Amino acid sequence: MTNPIASILDFQPVLVIDGALATELERRGCDLKDSLWSAKILLEQPEKIKQVHYDYFKAGADCAITASYQATLEGFAKRGLNETEALTLMKKSVLLAQEARDEFWADEANRAGRVKPFVAASIGPYGAYLANGEEYIGNYGLSEKELIDFHRPRMKALVEAGADMLACETIPSFIEAQAIAKLLKEFPNISAWISFSARDEKHISEGQAFADCVQHLEDNPQITALGINCTSPKYIPSLMREARKQTDKPLLTYPNSGETYDASKNDWDGHRIYPLFGAEAQEWYNAGARMIGGCCRTTPEDIQAITSWARNKI
Ligand SMILES: [Zn+2]
Repeated sequence: MTNPIASILDFQPVLVIDGALATELERRGCDLKDSLWSAKILLEQPEKIKQVHYDYFKAGADCAITASYQATLEGFAKRGLNETEALTLMKKSVLLAQEARDEFWADEANRAGRVKPFVAASIGPYGAYLANGEEYIGNYGLSEKELIDFHRPRMKALVEAGADMLACETIPSFIEAQAIAKLLKEFPNISAWISFSARDEKHISEGQAFADCVQHLEDNPQITALGINCTSPKYIPSLMREARKQTDKPLLTYPNSGETYDASKNDWDGHRIYPLFGAEAQEWYNAGARMIGGCCRTTPEDIQAITSWARNKI
């Protein structure tokens, strides 16, 4: 099993994760008012996805998270795509990130002082397929086996497409994390991070203590980092400290901008808590985070700010 995270953290104290994909596509004029969200752009404007990946590498990201967050057999089927077409699109999300990375890396000027970035294939939660905001709630009422069966085909496609690792993200419930952890054993050559969404300073969205989740997942050798994403930045320092007590694995965080998602309007409410993420990155680092980026509503400017801060630590 390769571990791209360890390879990078051997060389530098902080691994910079990329920023938002879907909301960044919207900012660039794409219409994402659709249950497929960024997966819709995979179908219609794949070159725009590649450009966003490229811009995040340029801003300093050490990895790209693919546009497969909301790409599922069930979601594509509702749009009339058969299984083969759906699996091809999932694989395409990996290929687009790989192409962006390879083009970025082919330019010698981009390599100065950097380690080659990797591609982390996004595995969104069951709630993301529902497209009603349940990735911030959980309580699906599904069994572990049902969740494993839901996650299997996409995980298989992303592994087959050659992703360097899996980014299992915005997971709201422990049962879903456990289902993913068990499913990973069917793909023994791939590593994964598991990142939860949280509702306050101590609890993931469904209500379990984040510290307990970390403790239970800690001994799975394929899980190479644990953390929190798409959560308000104000909760991150406490959540990182909670996790730090339970594991020596790298902790990751890529919060959203602090605005909240209103599923009824399919839109974001509120205002950014911080202007850019540079100064906050230091606080998250002090609390234990070693992989830092941004989730919804963050931009290449946020990643640039994190990079400027991180490079000063080297
Ligand atoms: Zn997000």
